[in-house]
Amino acid sequence: MKPAPFEYVAAHSTGDVVAALAAGDTRVLAGGQSLVLEMNYRTARPARLVDINRVPGFDRLDLDRLDGADGALVAGPLVRHRAFEAGAAPGALGELLRRVARHIAHPPIRARGTLLGSLAYAHPAAEWPAVAVALDARLELLAAGGSRTVAAAEFFTGPFATLRRPDELLHAARLPLLPAGTRVGFAEQRRTRASFAQLAALAAVTVAGGRVVAARIGLVNAARRPIRARAAELALQDGPLDDAAIARAAAAGADLDAEPHPQPYADAGYQRHAVAVLLRRALAEARDGG
Ligand SMILES: Cc1cc2nc3c(=O)[nH]c(=O)nc-3n(C[C@H](O)[C@H](O)[C@H](O)COP(=O)(O)OP(=O)(O)OC[C@H]3O[C@@H](n4cnc5c(N)ncnc54)[C@H](O)[C@@H]3O)c2cc1C
Repeated sequence: MKPAPFEYVAAHSTGDVVAALAAGDTRVLAGGQSLVLEMNYRTARPARLVDINRVPGFDRLDLDRLDGADGALVAGPLVRHRAFEAGAAPGALGELLRRVARHIAHPPIRARGTLLGSLAYAHPAAEWPAVAVALDARLELLAAGGSRTVAAAEFFTGPFATLRRPDELLHAARLPLLPAGTRVGFAEQRRTRASFAQLAALAAVTVAGGRVVAARIGLVNAARRPIRARAAELALQDGPLDDAAIARAAAAGADLDAEPHPQPYADAGYQRHAVAVLLRRALAEARDGG
């Protein structure tokens, strides 16, 4: 199908974008990898699209060393999945983002789709929202009336649902850098190489003196929104990152953190089992080579 008729606005500045959004019934066109599909199916029929692809500076990926204890990576609205896959970010955070990005769709989609578009879209099986929640990312929203910052943990409220108001541009994501000694891992279950995940787990574990001093674990599609697996993290705390700790964390994540929800492919028991398997794989990857 073809999209329903709409007005097209090519923005050349942030002001153009927020002005178009303030007019109402307007959607941001970023990578277009989800929006155009929806418009072709006519599940989305916005009156207006504001194309942000020509706005100078929107593709910036900066390090802000003054943000928090270790600094933060700040991504603008046009930083594409491919930038992370290519290793544009430093340290353990960069390595985590690189491993995750490789699992998103396939190369042509990664060349167009954006981190912020994925966060704004909030697909329940998308990888970036779980990364943002696990890392305590902060999301900057901008509208004609002003700006605000929302913690990723609060931003996602359900499948395709966020705290973003329709007149707000998601202007930046601030991802805290991971401390020295952090090892990362990612594991995903999906039907084909290009399809969305059925479930996925990511881990960033900081080890000092042979003991786990911090852990950040995220789960994709293990609940109705992306979640941080706090029980799994607690099971690792203060001990070595060995097989026994990984098994305890995987069991805690599956039993206490996962909130199975109706899925076409699996009942609740299967989902908990798969979460345990994916957590074990992600944590073993972090221990062995992350
Ligand atoms: C075949 C296929 C497979 C895919 N597989 C995966 C996968 O495995 N994992 C995955 O995560 N994704 C997957 N995707 C989706 C892809 O990653 C998209 O790129 C992503 O969901 C949206 O990013 P985008 O930049 O293309 O956004 P768009 O399609 O341009 O926009 C999506 C929505 O977000 C809004 N939006 C975009 N940017 C902003 C902003 N800055 N502020 C406010 N609103 C904004 C738009 O208005 C629209 O409502 C797949 C897509 C396809 C077609």
